[in-house]
Amino acid sequence: MPSDITTPWPDACMGAVSLTFDDGRASQLEKAVPIMADLGLRGTFYLNPRDGFDLAPWRVLSQAGHEIGNHTVTHPCSRALGDVPNVRCLETLTLDDVEADILEASRRLRAGIPEQAEFTFCYPCYQDHVGEGLTRRSYVPLVAKHFIAGRGRGEWGHNHPATCDLANLYSWNAEFMSGPVLVGLAQQAVSKRRWVIFTVHGIEDGHLPLAEVALTELCRFLRDRRADIWTAPVVEVAAAVKAWRAAGR
Ligand SMILES: [Zn+2]
Repeated sequence: MPSDITTPWPDACMGAVSLTFDDGRASQLEKAVPIMADLGLRGTFYLNPRDGFDLAPWRVLSQAGHEIGNHTVTHPCSRALGDVPNVRCLETLTLDDVEADILEASRRLRAGIPEQAEFTFCYPCYQDHVGEGLTRRSYVPLVAKHFIAGRGRGEWGHNHPATCDLANLYSWNAEFMSGPVLVGLAQQAVSKRRWVIFTVHGIEDGHLPLAEVALTELCRFLRDRRADIWTAPVVEVAAAVKAWRAAGR
């Protein structure tokens, strides 16, 4: 490794990858978790701990080294995604409303998974604002106040450790992608010395599906390249970036 290149990644890795899964879908437990377990990979699962939501199977994941993250309780999004104007939505919520929702989700996650020390946040529908037009305001500062990191989307899915906003990280939304495309995007972790984050929803299910064979191909690639690509939950990579910055790199 050239001496003028430093990275926050351990074991001389030249890039990092995080696999993230949104919305607590059953197909993640049924399909993604076994694939990752077989290959020794750990990821981040962003949940909405609504009333009656069973955290027990997700607590098992946390105990196996995965991260269980905050995706709010009620998953508030823009009404522009639908066609009904009078719904509970980001346009009509205040920053205080969103903060209360986020903090309640954290309270429920800590109650259900008390041994998990720290976890990150994920923006529902990748949206980080309340209001609209002249009244629109970002809630990224709230996320920065309460979490080490927040995952969004972005024009790119990769993040440079020296320049990224940890409170609004970029990710690639992986639905409908093929195995070779996912592998190519993961290779950017090394070629660009960056942290690549993938967002996955359902595995072979739901409105944003990813094929099981594609996820398997990506995970096998990450296993095979573990000597130079560090695959870890968002909270661990964010902590490494934060420490690296604090050391003045
Ligand atoms: Zn979501």
